[in-house]
Amino acid sequence: MTTEQLSADVVVVGAGPAGSSAAYHLAKLGLDVLLLERHELGRDKVCGDGLTPSAVRELVNMGVDTSTWRRNRGLRVIGGGHQLHIPWPEQASLPAYALARRRSQLDRDLATHAVVAGARLLTGVTATAPVTGPSGRVTGVQVRPTPRHPEPGVEAPTTITAPLIMDAGGVSARLATAVGRTRDERRPLGVAVRAYFRSPRADDDWMESRLELWDGPAGHSDLLPGYGWIWSVGDGLVNVGLGSVSSTPAAASTRGIDYRAVFKRWLAHVPASWGFTPENQVGRIASAALPMAFNRKPHYADGLMLLGDAGGMVSPFNGEGIAQALASGRLAAEAAAQAAARPTASGRELALSQYPAALEAQMGGYYTLGRIFVALIEHPEVMRVCTRYGLPRKRLMRLVAKLLSDGWERRGGDGIDHFIQLLTRMVPAA
Ligand SMILES: Cc1cc2nc3c(=O)[nH]c(=O)nc-3n(C[C@H](O)[C@H](O)[C@H](O)COP(=O)(O)OP(=O)(O)OC[C@H]3O[C@@H](n4cnc5c(N)ncnc54)[C@H](O)[C@@H]3O)c2cc1C
Repeated sequence: MTTEQLSADVVVVGAGPAGSSAAYHLAKLGLDVLLLERHELGRDKVCGDGLTPSAVRELVNMGVDTSTWRRNRGLRVIGGGHQLHIPWPEQASLPAYALARRRSQLDRDLATHAVVAGARLLTGVTATAPVTGPSGRVTGVQVRPTPRHPEPGVEAPTTITAPLIMDAGGVSARLATAVGRTRDERRPLGVAVRAYFRSPRADDDWMESRLELWDGPAGHSDLLPGYGWIWSVGDGLVNVGLGSVSSTPAAASTRGIDYRAVFKRWLAHVPASWGFTPENQVGRIASAALPMAFNRKPHYADGLMLLGDAGGMVSPFNGEGIAQALASGRLAAEAAAQAAARPTASGRELALSQYPAALEAQMGGYYTLGRIFVALIEHPEVMRVCTRYGLPRKRLMRLVAKLLSDGWERRGGDGIDHFIQLLTRMVPAA
């Protein structure tokens, strides 16, 4: 990289969905953006690979061609002795389908899309620390070649400067942590485990969600904490996983649960028709943490924005974080472009403050509700009662599906949308 390339209008750290979305929108808005990724494109990422209609909406906003991706038509919810199919509804702002795409493919597609739009991408580059000025403002990042990367985008440790830095580095949030924006221990934290299998049911076009995890035959064994999912990701593969959530990280650690062991026990009792045998398993069983309900703030201060998982944006309702990561990239880019067009420092700061305000408006009340939801369902028995008596009620389940998948209209919509809008207004922002 030459000296003049060591600066940009915006440096984005991390080419996951949040970083690539930001880079794409920034480039489209005419800014010079440098996207840094420590790995190579196409790396694996522990995820369920599910893209709900709200994620599809963001992909459409980015002009991503999803025509060959694995589509599905709704949720199949299983629990309490019931099974219910809930199609994704056709809505004003949301399509009546969801997608699934392996993260190795999705993240490569999105980063490439950002580059085609004009972003500069450097892979094999690890951001090690923020560079701060005397006032504490972040003015750049220190980077180094990622060890053992075959073609790192920089040859030696160096500094890259920009008036605005975006931490889109996922749950580790290295830059945010370095400036003291640590995890809020009062917010929920999730853990999820997943594996891939070749499956005879890989052409199933429903996303299966299992609200109860039994340690043996349903109703005659222990109920395990959490929920399970199974869905096709294309190429004959299904992604199967389980997620569990606790109202605080402390509550999670007192449980002391080995989630991979739980996963294996649960898997052994999933119907044999799925074909989850050792011979059909592809790759390893992997797990990771889910930072939820804005557990890292502020989302903008002193020249540093937090996007996606770095800003704790996973939904406490369902463990989904890709839609929010994509949305945060878009909202961050809009604020950055407005700031770049202002002639004064005070004007620029005012424009940048629109980013956290937009996040609060979009997700604040919803995540406060989510925290209440988590406090209830972290007890498997509560979940069991809700499942047994709630699932047979179709209208209630349509509401639950909209609420859990963030598939509700912020304006207008039907009676269910109005009810959720009312609930999110009644609680304080997250
Ligand atoms: C098991 C599991 C299942 C899940 N299932 C789903 C699901 O089905 N649907 C859904 O919507 N969400 C799901 N999630 C959540 C989802 O994976 C995350 O919310 C999403 O990946 C967040 O995107 P991001 O861009 O913020 O971060 P990431 O996807 O983590 O991307 C961060 C990027 O930054 C790079 N990076 C990190 N640090 C540095 C550094 N210092 N320098 C340079 N680069 C760096 C990383 O290599 C990575 O590429 C799941 C999570 C888990 C753990």
